[in-house]
Amino acid sequence: MSPEIFTMLELQSIWDKVLAAKNEIARSRHAIDFWRNEMKAMEAKMADLRSRVNQLKSNIKQKELELHDVESRIQFLDSKKNSLKSQREFDSMTTELESLNKKKDEIESNMLQYMEDVDAIEGELDVLQQEMPKRLNQIENDVEQLQHKLESLQKEAEDNAAQFNTHIVKLPLDIRAKFAKLIETKGNGIVPLENGTCMGCHFQVPVYVRDEVAKSKAVTCTNCGRFLYFKN
Ligand SMILES: [Zn+2]
Repeated sequence: MSPEIFTMLELQSIWDKVLAAKNEIARSRHAIDFWRNEMKAMEAKMADLRSRVNQLKSNIKQKELELHDVESRIQFLDSKKNSLKSQREFDSMTTELESLNKKKDEIESNMLQYMEDVDAIEGELDVLQQEMPKRLNQIENDVEQLQHKLESLQKEAEDNAAQFNTHIVKLPLDIRAKFAKLIETKGNGIVPLENGTCMGCHFQVPVYVRDEVAKSKAVTCTNCGRFLYFKN
C-alpha cells in the first residue's frame, strides 16, 4: 500500500469518528428537545386543567346568583298568593311560578353538572400533581445526563477533527486538496474498489482505473471522484 493511500485510510477512519460523534450529538440534542417539550406539554396540560376548574367555579357562582334571584321571586309570589283578586291574576301567577320552578330545576341541574366536572378535573389534577415532581425530576436528570454526554461528544469530535488536520498535511498538496473537498462534501474521500465497483457510488470503473488501483496508485473513481483502494 502506498503511503498516500495509507494516510488517506488513516484520515478516513479519524473522520468517521468525527461523523459518528456528530450524529450522536444530533441524536442527543433531539432527545433533549423531546424531553423539554414533554415537560412543557405536561405543564401546559396542568395549566389548562386549572383554568377549566376556575371557569367552572365561576360558572357555578353565576348560577348561584341566578338561583338566588329565581328563589327570591318564587318567595315573593308565594307571599302574594293570598291577596290575589281575580282568577286572571291567579292564572297568571300560576304560569309564572311554573316557569320559575322549571328555570330553578334547570339551574340546579346545570350547577350539579358543573360540580361533577370540577370533581373529575380536580381528581385528574391530583393524580398529575402527585406524578409531576417525580416525572419532572426524572426528565431533568435525563436532560442533564444528555448534556454531559453532549459535552464529551463535542470534545471527542473536536479532538478528532484536530487530529485529522494534523495528519492531512502528510498528503501531497494536490491529493490533499481533493481529499479535503471530498471529506467536506461527501463525508468519505476514499472507498474500497470491489470487483471493479466503486463502493462509494457503486459504479463499475474502467479497466485502466482498476489497473491503477491494483498498482496502489492514488486514483479516483471516474464517476464520483472518490479515491479508491483495493480491499484485501
Ligand atoms: Zn464512485
